[in-house]
Amino acid sequence: MTPGLPQNTLSLSPSQLAPQNIFEKNQNSSTTCSGYCTRCNSLHTFSENNAGKACLELMELFRIKQRIDLESPAHKADPRFSTDYLFGQARGKMFGILECFDVTGNKVILKAFSGQYNGIWEVDGWAPPLFQVDAFEDLTSSIEKKIKSLGREMECYPPDSSERKKLQRERKKLSQDLMKEIHGLYQVTNFRGETRSLGDVYTGHNGIPTGTGDCCAPKLFHLAARKNLKPLGLAEFYWGKENKSQTKESETFYPSCREKCEPILGFLLCGLQGTGHE
Ligand SMILES: [Zn+2]
Ligand SMILES: [Zn+2]
Repeated sequence: MTPGLPQNTLSLSPSQLAPQNIFEKNQNSSTTCSGYCTRCNSLHTFSENNAGKACLELMELFRIKQRIDLESPAHKADPRFSTDYLFGQARGKMFGILECFDVTGNKVILKAFSGQYNGIWEVDGWAPPLFQVDAFEDLTSSIEKKIKSLGREMECYPPDSSERKKLQRERKKLSQDLMKEIHGLYQVTNFRGETRSLGDVYTGHNGIPTGTGDCCAPKLFHLAARKNLKPLGLAEFYWGKENKSQTKESETFYPSCREKCEPILGFLLCGLQGTGHE
């Protein structure tokens, strides 16, 4: 969270932007994500610093341009990337910024959206997912076809028949195997330069929730580690129609999630010693 930061800050006049100015002078040290590292047997935490300010600038771009394909000139804007999508049935989404230094000391801003945007995994200027999109789509489409055809075959047998139950078990096993294979496609790299699959780094106990690795924080830290960047600060905000459970509303900052991110961030943050983030 970003305490003291009012919503709609950017709709205020510059003289009313006191919280943002305070921000610039005193870097925000509130923790925006953390995870337990099994290698170091300790909790790795990471704070906001100036990433919240960069998020406010991104929000202002969303307001002005009403789209996320910010690399494209207006006449080449792709309607699939309009922010209208976030205010419709699909509802809003988390966006995040990781502020980094490159090896020469230049500041680099990485940005990410959670999951897919309007069914699309990769958008220019945004952190990619943790897997090769082609491999992901090949795998899911072939197994989903099999799952559907088993479903159709099941319909040919009476509900309590042994044939139908057998097919049902087969279908369930296929879905479970698919999830395992999908998690195997997710590769995460940390700041020690180690790369592991999602299943290997997940520290939770109840199986890996669907969507783990698709949030902003893991995409951003992985990308920074791959690009040999040194992260300085992370902030994440929600943009669009409030989520179904009404726990997230537009233009508001939130820390990384507990269910999906915390169990993999211990690994992802490992190796950041000496940056004040250990
Ligand atoms: Zn998350
Ligand atoms: Zn560690």
